[in-house]
Amino acid sequence: MPFHAHSISPQIAAIRMRYIQQLEDRAQAISALWQHGIADGLSSDQITSLYAQAHTLAGSAGSFNLPEVSEVATHLENLFAHLNATGVQNMPSEMQAMITVAITQLIDVAHQVGDLPIEVQDPLPIAIPVRKQEQTPVLIVEDDVVVGEHLALQLEHFGYCAMVVQQLDDLEQAVRTHHPAAIILDIVFPEGDLAGPQRIATLLDPTLSVPVVFVSQRNDFEARLWALRAGGRAYLTKPSDVDALVMVLDGLTGAFIPEPYRVLILDDSRLMSSLYAAMLEEAGMLTMVLNDPAEVMFALHEFQPDLLLLDMYMPICTGPEVAAIIRQQTEFVSLPIVFLSGEQDRDHQLAALDQGGDDFLTKPITAPQLVSAVTSRARRGRAMRAQLTRDGLTGLFTHASIKEQLVREIMRAQRYEQILSVAMIDIDHFKQINDHYGHAAGDRVLKGLARLLHQRLRMSDTIGRYGGEEFLLIFPQTDGPTALRVLDDARARFAMIGHQFGKKEVTITFSGGIAALRRGDDPRTLLAIADDALYTAKRAGRNQIICAPRHPRSTSKMVGDT
Ligand code: GH3
Ligand code: MG
Ligand code: MG
Repeated sequence: MPFHAHSISPQIAAIRMRYIQQLEDRAQAISALWQHGIADGLSSDQITSLYAQAHTLAGSAGSFNLPEVSEVATHLENLFAHLNATGVQNMPSEMQAMITVAITQLIDVAHQVGDLPIEVQDPLPIAIPVRKQEQTPVLIVEDDVVVGEHLALQLEHFGYCAMVVQQLDDLEQAVRTHHPAAIILDIVFPEGDLAGPQRIATLLDPTLSVPVVFVSQRNDFEARLWALRAGGRAYLTKPSDVDALVMVLDGLTGAFIPEPYRVLILDDSRLMSSLYAAMLEEAGMLTMVLNDPAEVMFALHEFQPDLLLLDMYMPICTGPEVAAIIRQQTEFVSLPIVFLSGEQDRDHQLAALDQGGDDFLTKPITAPQLVSAVTSRARRGRAMRAQLTRDGLTGLFTHASIKEQLVREIMRAQRYEQILSVAMIDIDHFKQINDHYGHAAGDRVLKGLARLLHQRLRMSDTIGRYGGEEFLLIFPQTDGPTALRVLDDARARFAMIGHQFGKKEVTITFSGGIAALRRGDDPRTLLAIADDALYTAKRAGRNQIICAPRHPRSTSKMVGDT
């Protein structure tokens, strides 16, 4: 349960407090409408309104873990539902009395809740990780210290902090003190030809369940079998390629985490929507809250959510109507839409799903339930969308998709008068890599560069594969010099990586051109300027980033006009 005093976060506690403060007013409003109605004669509209208010209260009180309120409100909801069905004309006097009593009870419990002190303690633990800013620790066990240090340096560019241990005897102690997310271990040591797996087999007690990657000169069946039986999760042959090792480590350690899920919440209740937003944000997601259904189209374009959490009953229109409107637009056909409502009737739920919803969550809902339901659907939705928008090799946005995003980002920057920069980068002499070491080697380099850019750029930056070995980067709210600093750091790091092709270690570089947005620029102009800067960098000797000098509103010559 999310609202036990020991697990309530300050943010959610504040929302709950606001809810409690208005509870009594809500109960009084129901009472006033009812008193008014029985004095002047109740219309069926008034009954419907009373029913809706009790229904909303029952659901929201449950979500805020106020079971007494929820219970009385549910009782009242049922009474009004009954009245709605039988009609008000011949309301038996017992019915009227029961409702009056229930309303009095509601006011009482609402008042008592208002008196309750609430205890606020530490924030909820984060349920799903956000992209880690800190480095992921790994352990390299390698008797050749130069080889070990070299590998450690390279892994650092990808966000791994590696500690090198030279002797098998020091392994256990290093695991205990360093808590590595993975161990990279040789097979052959001075102690013997299979000393690596033999030692790890004796160490692998449950308290040390750290994934092991074997990296060895040996490539025979016996070595691989020993490695497997010692619990090795992956096996790479030496000399090992950093790009390949990083992919393996990413898979084993979960160090590489994609952007947090983006959830759009549409609910006419400000309080309920902010509660859901707080629950999801505490689990590391990004949220945008809407209280007016009319804004949904704008928000979908602007926020690009992975999932829409939708209320069923709102003043202007219903949730299923919103879902139907969204589904009529092809670009949003695969957006997961999840209804969140107090609606208990399975037929009504199914009818709502028929309009284009994917799932139905019923209020009240706990934070863990909401987070887990949203996570699984957002993950699926993102995977489906990735088929359309992500490049299969690098996982970056495709040409079409990154261009769309550029148009959107430029429009946004111009609307809010914000700065923005773009960069075009291109790998140097890439054709030679393919020609000398094969297309598969080239592909690995492309993947490695994509991974490094992802690590080194900021969360708000967007990366796309613009062409074969060309990437387009969008830096929102960033000026040219800042984009240059970020990208030049990535350039320097990439240039330091030794890519292993067979027995040969090769360094590869890239060049880049940056253009900062100027008022009145359209996407094509901005790209052309970045491209010019890129080719200036190429002509100037490659392995460098050039930022096009841009003078506000001037028509003078740009970079490249030499
Ligand atoms: P420059 O420094 O001037 O950019 O030289 P370059 O060799 O990188 O430029 P060029 O445009 O002549 O060659 C680009 C090469 O990129 C040609 C193509 O074989 C290779 N390439 C494009 N897409 C892929 C891909 O998906 N995988 C691989 N392995 N190679 C690719
Ligand atoms: Mg090229
Ligand atoms: Mg190139």
